[in-house]
Parts: sequence; structure tokens; C-alpha cells
Amino acid sequence: MPSMDPAGSKGSNGGPKADFFARKQRIEQQRKSLPIASVEKRLMDEVRGHDILIIVGETGSGKTTQLPQYLFNAGFCRDGKIIGITQPRRVAAVTVAKRVAEECGVEMGQRVGYSIRFDDMTSSSTRIKYMTDGLLLREALLDKYLSKYSVIIVDEAHERTVDTDVLLGILKSVQKARSGPINQLPNIDHTKANNGVVIDKENDSQRASSLNRCRGLKLSPLKLIIMSASLDARGFSEYFGGARAVHVQGRQFPVDIFYTKAPETDYLDATLITIFQIHLEEGAGDVLVFLTGQEEIESVERLVLEKLQQLPEEKRKLKVLPIYSSLPSEKQMQVFMPAPTGFRKVILATNIAETSVTIPGIKYVIDPGLVKARTYSARTGMESLVVVPTSKAQALQRSGRAGREGPGKCFRLYPEREFEKLSDSTVPEIKRCNLSKVVLQLKALGVDDIIGFDFMEKPSREAVIKSLELLTLLGALTEESRLSKPVGHQMARLPLDPTHAKALILASQFNCLEEMLIAVAMLSVESIFYAPREKLEEARTAAKCFSSLEGDHLTLINVYRASDELFEKSKIGNNREKAEKTMRKWCKENFINSRSVRQARDIHRQATSSFLGLKPKYDWQIRENVEQMGLHVASCGDDMLQFRRCLAAAFFLNAALKQPDGTYRVLSSGQSVQIHPSSVLFRTKPDCLIFDELVRTNHNYIRNVSRVDYLWLPELAPQYYTLKE
Ligand code: ADP
Ligand code: MG
Repeated sequence: MPSMDPAGSKGSNGGPKADFFARKQRIEQQRKSLPIASVEKRLMDEVRGHDILIIVGETGSGKTTQLPQYLFNAGFCRDGKIIGITQPRRVAAVTVAKRVAEECGVEMGQRVGYSIRFDDMTSSSTRIKYMTDGLLLREALLDKYLSKYSVIIVDEAHERTVDTDVLLGILKSVQKARSGPINQLPNIDHTKANNGVVIDKENDSQRASSLNRCRGLKLSPLKLIIMSASLDARGFSEYFGGARAVHVQGRQFPVDIFYTKAPETDYLDATLITIFQIHLEEGAGDVLVFLTGQEEIESVERLVLEKLQQLPEEKRKLKVLPIYSSLPSEKQMQVFMPAPTGFRKVILATNIAETSVTIPGIKYVIDPGLVKARTYSARTGMESLVVVPTSKAQALQRSGRAGREGPGKCFRLYPEREFEKLSDSTVPEIKRCNLSKVVLQLKALGVDDIIGFDFMEKPSREAVIKSLELLTLLGALTEESRLSKPVGHQMARLPLDPTHAKALILASQFNCLEEMLIAVAMLSVESIFYAPREKLEEARTAAKCFSSLEGDHLTLINVYRASDELFEKSKIGNNREKAEKTMRKWCKENFINSRSVRQARDIHRQATSSFLGLKPKYDWQIRENVEQMGLHVASCGDDMLQFRRCLAAAFFLNAALKQPDGTYRVLSSGQSVQIHPSSVLFRTKPDCLIFDELVRTNHNYIRNVSRVDYLWLPELAPQYYTLKE
């Protein structure tokens, strides 16, 4: 594709500038033809007339990309205020922001920007800001009234992620606070101003006097828009006191649904066969495949590419494109580009493509009927990721993707009678996840009574109590269930799972914060190693160079350090591109996921938007964060004992003991688990270990495990282990 011509010198006789204008015109036409375009004026009137508006409309009707632009044009950004749009998924926030920046003809990070954890592409000129719902929640910690926003759009609300649900509750009270006179001041204890200056805690008399100054003043009101792709708006409307709901008519062509005769034993194999059946037997049109996660997507991608090689040259015109949340954004954008002439695109997606992003050109959908979901048992206190059947609503959304531009076909890889057995809709995440992160956040936002909080759907009392217990054990809450100082406040400030946050805080005492920062960054990305089925032994041998007898945490640190050293060395002469290339080659040779390593490096270091000259305004970089908290960043050098003791002190609730049959028993829950085959300790099997996460497939697998000494537990976690025998 020709690049844009900055000087525009060739503009007069075709060439890049003409291309640019042609593209601009095409985009303008596309925008005008969207179903939502015909109701722009009506929608703006509705927004003016209602402080809370619920907009439902089919996926692809233009809600996410168009509405913020309409609001901007209608003057909702006067006085420098911002329109904020939240998305449950990082990848949606990024791809949509890019599309909208292009539609507006502005550079990313200027009028249109996005902000997600570890990556902030906004500037002081940003007026339309896409972000994850979790990020807006964290902003509320810094600015209780979210005062820089004139409108907040909660998009994809039907997904009912835990962050969306908490956000709805918080926004409800922010809106109320902003519509009345100020009679309460935001709690600025331990918060940080946007420019990075830490505000000292106000004393009581200062607080009283600022309150007096502000009392009676009014903040500008906040408009709330809740958008959903599910056609049933009742729940949202009721939650917001009978709020007005409007429907945007979509466009949907018929989709033929095909089922398998019998259940598939290997759905990946069935997927592969279906992809090639479509490719070889069906008419033109792109294919969208729903898979459960990065690993699965990567393995299907490899299998498709291999199988293609066995076809005659003229039948190889298939372009495989993955899309999932942790994919680097330049790769994510490729799914939106048309396939090269004569080629068919096959997009391998997670459920991100269900409603969050609309990919043009799809005519065929392959739906194995599965999704990776969180589950939580309040009894054991264990959260796990499990692959489960989709709901009927999800299956319908998925098949709908085939009928956006014309009649389509959807291949469900299960028998029709199975469809009838699916639950109607997905249970909101808040009812099936570990609530400790949510509770910590709510406490930091000043919500004391968690059980009494105005949730759209209340989590179980048992789960709330369990998470209060857990946070108390981690030292984040006092006996009276208040945020402890400084630990609770510090933990709430770190954009991490509470146990990871605690590990960092402890690491400064164990003199191994350097190491823990790397470990936490590596644990925050999807798997570092990959082992293709046919090269299992080779991959194992390669991984051995990094493996530590102490466990996966130190192994991950070894990988990080080796890659970092190589990167720094090959960057000499400041040739970043060359360094990246060397890195990719090294990763490939060592069966390491280069994307994951790169991402971990970005998290650990500060690779944010610095190349755009934009300064990160939020404290997403964990390193910067811990430094600002005054934690002591030091390395334990070769003394890995310190590091492991620190792991034991932080992950004591995830400690497990070996059983005579080689399985493990989790001490806190009594659950029986096994070490995941990808672990370096899979064969060694130490007597006692701690683990990072529990993944349930056909077994209860624990992943990322490290050896610890059984006797350390009562010594380092006496708050828990003295109580037990
Ligand atoms: P909704 O939010 O109602 O589901 P969107 O605003 O996301 O709809 O999408 C509207 C249209 O914009 C869709 O037809 C889609 O194909 C197009 N679109 C969205 N993002 C992109 C992109 N990155 N590139 C090309 N087209 C896009
Ligand atoms: Mg949308």
C-alpha cells in the first residue's frame, strides 16, 4: 500500500495524495450509510433531553464509532470537557480509537485518543477518549467527580463484566453528586495529581476550609449513556430509575445455521476442517472463527498455514489473521484491511469479535460454541479460568456477524440439541469472580459498606465476605475493614491483582523488588513459552537453557533478562528496528512468544507513547508507581532464597503440598490440583510450592509455580498459618 505523502507533491497527478482523498471520501460515504447516521439529530436531542440515556442497537450499526463524534460536533466538549467511552476490552478501545481518529482525519492522541492499562495515547487536546472500564474506575480514584468528563458512555454494557458493573454503580453516584451542590469533598489522601505531583494529605482544618470554600458551588452535570448490543434494555433502564431507552435500527441479512450431526471430540480439528471446507467449496467472503484464547488461536494459525502448504499453489490464497487482546495493535488493525485481491481472509478471534469490534467482509462464521470464562468458588476462595459453552445470546451474536453485509452462513460445531440446552444469557461476571480487587477498589473510592453498595446485580454475600477476609489476610484492610495505611492504600494504587500488588510491596522489604517487578510483568502477559505439538521435544530442550530448579518465576526472570540483554546489545547504534528483528529471531529459536516478551518489557519499562512525545498522565508503569510510593527498588543479586521467601510471604494462600500420588493439595482450600505440564517443576515435583493461578481444563492445573519451604509459611504468614494446624 502506498504511504501517505507528507509534502503532497504528487497530489496533482494521482499518487498518494489522491489516494488519501479517495480514502477519505470512501470513509465519509461509509459513515453516512451506517444505520445510526439517519438518526443523528434525534439522538442528540435525546441526549440533551435526558441525563441518562440507554441506547441499544445491533452490532455494526455505528454506536461506538459514531456517537462520540456526533456528541463532539453537537458541542459537548465545550469548555475543554471530554467525552469518555469505556470498553470492556483493551483491544476494542485501541482499534476503535484508531478508526475514529482516521475518520476524523486527526492523529492518534490528539483530538481522539485511547487509554488502557500500560498504554496511554491521549494528550491535553484529547476530547474523545476511548478507554477500558477498569481504567475509568482507576481515574475515579484520582478524581472522585470525574470532573473533566461532560459525557461518559459505557459501551458494551450487555457484556456485564465486573468492571462495567462496578462502574455503573460508581457513575450513578458521581452523576448524583455532580447534579447537586457540593457538600462533600473528594478524598485526596494518597492520590496523585495528574502532573505527577503527589499531593500531601490535607489536615482536618485545611479540609474544612476548602469544603467551606466549595460548599454551595455546583459542578457541571454529567451525561451518562449506556450502550448495549442486547436488545433488552429493561435491566439497565430499571437500574437507572426508569431511564429512557432508545433503539437504533440495525441491518441484518439472513444467516443459515448449520450444526454437526454428533458432538465433536476435537473441536480444533473440526474447526480446521470447516475452515478448509469453506475455503475450497464456498463462494467468496471472509471467515470469522471464534476461539477461546491466544494459545488456541496461535496453534490453529500454525495448523492452517501448514495445511495450506499441502494444497496446490492456486488454492493457497487464504490469509490468516489473529485478533485477541494482547496482540500488538498494529497487528490488530490488519484484520480490518481488505484481503489482497483473490484472497480470502480467515480471522481467528476471541469473543472480542462477538460485539466489541465489527470486522467488515465476513460472510462465514465458525462457532465451536465455547468461551473462556472466569469462575469462582466462594467456598474454596479459588478463581479459575475455564472453557465453558457459550450462552444462546452469545451464539446468536456470533452467527449475526455473518449477516452484516449480505446473507451469510454460520457453522456451529455442535449438534442442534446442544444449542437448546444452552443457558439463555451469560451470568454477569460479578457473580462468578474473586471480588478482592473490586472490594479493594471500592474501599479506596470511599465505599465502606460493600454489601450495601448499589450494584445492578448483587454479588453473593459469601463472595464479598471471602474477599474481605482475603484482603484482611493480605494486610490491605484493618480489623474494622478499613483500608490500611500504608499497605492498603499502596495496594489499591497499583493496577494489579491484590496478591501481585502485595508481592511488590513485600519485595521492597525482602530486597528483591527488581526481580519481583520483572516477575509481575511477565505474569501479566499471556504465556511466554509455546510448544508446537510436532516440535515438543525441541521446544523443551530450548526452554531448558532458562529453566530454574526453583520454579517458573525465576525461569521467567531468566528469560526476561536474557531477552533484555540481547535487545540492549543489538540496539547499539540506536537501530530499534534491527534490534526488534534480532529479538524476533532469538525468540523463534527459543520457542518464546516474542509478543509476550515485548509486552512484558513495555509493562516493566516505560515504553508508553513516548515516541509520540506524549507524556503518560496516569501511573500505569508499575516501576514508576512503586518508586513514587517510596518503595526501595533493589536487586537480591544471586540470593534467590530471598526472592522465594518473598513469594511465599505474598502467595501463602496459594501454597500447596505434594500428596503421595504426586498431585497437590492447596492448603487454604483443600482442593486437589496438578502442576501444569508447561511448568519447569512438572517433573521435579517439590514437596511444597506456591502458584500464581489455577486453570481448569480437564484437570485442576496450577500454573507458574515455585518451590518454597513448608516451614516458611508459619514464619512468613503467621496471620494465617498459626490459625491452622
Ligand atoms: P457498533 O458499535 O454499533 O457495533 P461500530 O461503530 O463499532 O458499530 O462500527 C460501525 C462500522 O464501522 C462497522 O460497519 C464497521 O465495519 C466499521 N468499522 C469499525 N471499525 C473499523 C475499522 N477499524 N476499520 C474499518 N471499518 C471499521
Ligand atoms: Mg460497538
